[in-house]
Amino acid sequence: MKPLLIKNGTVVTMNPLRETLAADILIENNKIKKIGKNLKIPSAQIIEAKNTWVLPGLIQTHVHLCQTLFRNQAEDLELLDWLKEKIWPLEGGHTEKSVFLSAQLGIAELLKSGTTTILDMGTVHHTDQIFKACEELGIRAFSGKAMMDEGNDIPRGLQESTQDSLKETKRLIEKWHGAAQGRLKYALAPRFVLSCSEKLLREVQKIAQEKNLLIHTHASENKKECEEVQKQKGKTTIGYLHQLGLCGPHSSFAHGVWLNDEELEILSKTKTNISHCPSSNLKLGSGIANTPKMLEQGINVGLGADGAPCNNNLDIFQEMRLAALIQKPLRGVKTLSSQTVFEMATLKGAKALGLEQEIGSIEVGKKADIVLVSKNVLHALPNSDPYTTLVYSTPASDVQTVIVDGKVVVKNRKILTTSEEDLLDSINFS
Ligand SMILES: [Zn+2]
Repeated sequence: MKPLLIKNGTVVTMNPLRETLAADILIENNKIKKIGKNLKIPSAQIIEAKNTWVLPGLIQTHVHLCQTLFRNQAEDLELLDWLKEKIWPLEGGHTEKSVFLSAQLGIAELLKSGTTTILDMGTVHHTDQIFKACEELGIRAFSGKAMMDEGNDIPRGLQESTQDSLKETKRLIEKWHGAAQGRLKYALAPRFVLSCSEKLLREVQKIAQEKNLLIHTHASENKKECEEVQKQKGKTTIGYLHQLGLCGPHSSFAHGVWLNDEELEILSKTKTNISHCPSSNLKLGSGIANTPKMLEQGINVGLGADGAPCNNNLDIFQEMRLAALIQKPLRGVKTLSSQTVFEMATLKGAKALGLEQEIGSIEVGKKADIVLVSKNVLHALPNSDPYTTLVYSTPASDVQTVIVDGKVVVKNRKILTTSEEDLLDSINFS
């Protein structure tokens, strides 16, 4: 592969000094080889980045690619009704083909809006199709089949025994963990406490430890969900997960809207990560997570769009803007600076995935996951502070070019790893 040379950009490095540099970046193979002024490499392919922000690839720590096809089809419902009346029946009706299409649509949207890494939760079946789409379209991804071996109102298409759930999980780990030169990884994905037996959760903890895998689940999203957990298990959600050994630096829990002080303490002590999904929490009427308090207590917080039917888009720029805005009326205007929010979409996301040495900033030796965003646009000028500009004034449509693992996957707003026209045709026919 020819080296890539990004010339004349404004590089928002997110290095320890948080420097923004007028510099060129040399990429060799899949890594950042050099950052400096006036780099000249005759053999390199040049990417011109004048009047462009050059950012570390953005990271989302909670999405559902399998749900993209259900966009705009599950409106005005609270979490448990939304799942039982709409999402589970739709997921239960998925075929291999529809999961693949749903994942392609989601990944194309994510890449074109600057997200280069995701932590995804699949549905119960057809998880190979999600990995296949990630492999083909070139996003960096952790995914795993949703595990659901008990619970009420689960449609037949999603019901599975504990044994089958574990067997399929183990098969998928063997097949996909570390695939595409390490770009794809498996994350264990018990859906949430109310859909998993204690036996299953204990096995998940064992497998995570044995194979050094991430655990990805939903926790404390909705008040009624938490009350049901308390009723069934006699414990708070986090208290219960902690008792089973599921908290820890290798775990990412989506939401954390309804947490008491004791639960926050557990998350902090065990270094468990939270994925904050502000659009989803508002749209399903779940509430507003106290992310400033989490950060204050040393809890690592990443950002996610969640699935398309509870958002209804997968745009990280909207999540960043909203994550900042929703806190201000509740906790004062000084809470959550734009720089902190930008860290949630970069370095904190990387940390949640155990990849803080590899992605999340533009530094020599890190993986070349890089996003180029138009800088000279009237809706974002003047733009003296990069974080404020990127969090508050930048729409996803300003993303021009995207590089993942050293490969250009979007160039001048055109996705190169699939045909957007064919994809649109397939969706319109489905
Ligand atoms: Zn979710």
